[in-house]
Amino acid sequence: MRVGVIGGGQLARMMIPAAVNLGVELRVFAEDEGMAADLAAAVVGDYRDPDEVLQFAEGVDVITFDHEHVPQLVLRKLVEAGVAVRPGPDALLYAQDKLLMRQKLADLGLPVPVWARVENSFELGEFLAENGGTAVVKAARGGYDGKGVRVVRAAHEADDWFATLAEDANGGALLVEELVDFQRELAQSVARRPSGQILAWPVVESVQRDGVCAEVIAPAPGALGKVADVSSDIAYTIAEKLGVTGVLAVELFETTDERVLVNELAMRPHNSGHWGIEGSTTSQFEQHLRAVLDLPLGATGVREPWSVMINVFGGASGVPMIERYPLTLAEHPTVKVHNYGKEPRPGRKLGHVTATGADLDEVAYEARAMASKFEV
Ligand code: ADP
Repeated sequence: MRVGVIGGGQLARMMIPAAVNLGVELRVFAEDEGMAADLAAAVVGDYRDPDEVLQFAEGVDVITFDHEHVPQLVLRKLVEAGVAVRPGPDALLYAQDKLLMRQKLADLGLPVPVWARVENSFELGEFLAENGGTAVVKAARGGYDGKGVRVVRAAHEADDWFATLAEDANGGALLVEELVDFQRELAQSVARRPSGQILAWPVVESVQRDGVCAEVIAPAPGALGKVADVSSDIAYTIAEKLGVTGVLAVELFETTDERVLVNELAMRPHNSGHWGIEGSTTSQFEQHLRAVLDLPLGATGVREPWSVMINVFGGASGVPMIERYPLTLAEHPTVKVHNYGKEPRPGRKLGHVTATGADLDEVAYEARAMASKFEV
């Protein structure tokens, strides 16, 4: 069995040990030389070029992804050529375009923030007037880690984005939505096989800083009852109705009045699921491989009552994580390190650490303490 992964980042990299354990061959189609996943058999190419991607696909049994940016045209050519693409283009569309995603979820009757499609500042002004004068504007495509998300309080505050849209031959629009008064952000992951089996992990709490995931607590504290049920129902429904194959992560807002709203979808392993490498019987990386190969899914329960995952970002000093090992490994022997092998740059996501155990305060302290020592 050979799985081809388009994209050579850390998500592809973390599929490698899972593939090794399952005895599955993993091949990576990377954007550049020396990327995080080049430990696996990697070719370097342009994922926007149908011929290059088709040629790569000839050597594997199934194609899956480390990111959502492969154009629909390329995906459809793969399908036409008889390649198993998981998730397929019809599902992936909703992880690629936030406007289509909002519309689809609303059609399915799922809870989403109040939203609208706006083509110009006049329409944005109308939305602001109807929704308390503050809103969140988002680029429909291409945003990540909070880039392409802006809080606005006046209609002109997205003029630069509207101007860019006007240059686009296909026209286009922005997504605008209410500024949700959330008490916290949650993430619910599930995996689905083409033949239909779906399994969910526990819902987790994710803490963002500057629009980027900083920390994840699994399971989400206090979310045992209704919130957990509602979250997993939402993710099951999306996976089923959109025909997702592989891992689906649903980013959620838990509002101050205790509703759960869908923010975003990712159809691949997701930062909010890294905790499961140590914390769950089956990691999202192993599960993704099982799912795209249509193999029976592994159990998704927790191995320890609590897991805390902290992302490690490059600090000002530019020191690689590995140079801090003598100190960090000595002081935090219970914490597990994941180093993505990237060139350090200030603010760049270089890796993550995970601690697990029975006492949440202790687990969180250990993980945060170690991560902060990598970031100096
Ligand atoms: P990206 O695709 O760049 O990750 P998201 O849509 O997930 O963008 O938004 C990034 C972060 O911005 C969210 O995790 C959340 O903290 C904040 N955010 C996004 N939409 C809203 C909203 N409607 N109300 C309040 N905060 C929001």
